[in-house]
Amino acid sequence: MSLLVVGSVALDTVETPFGQVSDALGGSAVYISAAASFFTAPVRVVGVVGGDFPQDHVHFLESRKIDLDGLQVMKDGKTFRWGGKYHYDLNVRDTLFTQLNVFERFDPQIPPGYRTSGYVCLGNIDPILQRQVLNQISKPRLVVGDTMNYWIETKPNELVHTMKLMDVIIVNDSEARLLTQEPNLIKAAKKIIRMGPKVVIIKKGEHGATLVTEDTIFAAPAYPLENIFDPTGAGDSFAGGFIGWLARTDDVSPDNLKRAVIYGSTLASFCVEKFSVDGLKELSYLKIHDRFRAFMDLSRFDEK
Ligand code: AMP
Repeated sequence: MSLLVVGSVALDTVETPFGQVSDALGGSAVYISAAASFFTAPVRVVGVVGGDFPQDHVHFLESRKIDLDGLQVMKDGKTFRWGGKYHYDLNVRDTLFTQLNVFERFDPQIPPGYRTSGYVCLGNIDPILQRQVLNQISKPRLVVGDTMNYWIETKPNELVHTMKLMDVIIVNDSEARLLTQEPNLIKAAKKIIRMGPKVVIIKKGEHGATLVTEDTIFAAPAYPLENIFDPTGAGDSFAGGFIGWLARTDDVSPDNLKRAVIYGSTLASFCVEKFSVDGLKELSYLKIHDRFRAFMDLSRFDEK
């Protein structure tokens, strides 16, 4: 099934205790679409870059067979840039800078050929723009949305409005607490369900992710890696793996949502093993499936 991805396309400067990169390929739409491309086609991207966006990055996305007809190039402007620094505890990240550049003028226009996409993933952008995207497409089978502290704090009413249009929302633990003013994550998830989305996924970094619906709770561990180089994009790769699997199977049953969470966790685990999108570069469906199976052994046990 077709998948439409809308989000940031960025040049990231990232420092972790294990190294650093400058102007590396990043952005929510990039990680989501690259991760999803291992499962489904076509994956269509709507985003914006400046005239300085390197051709190598375009080639990488094309090599993943991602449809870039919806990628606007503003030749007179510079690409969105983000800088972050991770501490020894890789769950702690400081944003060093956010240069919106062409992203400030982003006006998502959905090409006519994209308007019937069956699955839609709204990366972390202004909730007003997320709504603008949904207004341009015919009723999709599933809308998955992401957000961040910045929008919860600055545009809470707009976000609440947009959340009503999402079937699944993916947030991290601190965002869930901030959104609901509820410290307990299960209670927070239930509060979010009352705000619109039928499915809430709460990511907890190296502590895994929990999927909550009105009548299910499913907890997935994170894959226990010994070498994590760069957590940037883990959340977006999770979202891409999650929706990519659902689009591939076109099955949103409770059991398949659980498999999608494990595929999401699998893609996130490959992402963090290298800097930028490098962890997704040498991947194959076979490698993904092997790790998916390894996940099954992680918490399987016999009663006696
Ligand atoms: P994640 O690590 O999954 O939270 O996503 C990191 C990605 O989000 C990076 O590649 C950044 O370029 C991108 N990003 C950071 N801040 C923003 C923002 N305000 N709007 C959109 N994308 C952002």
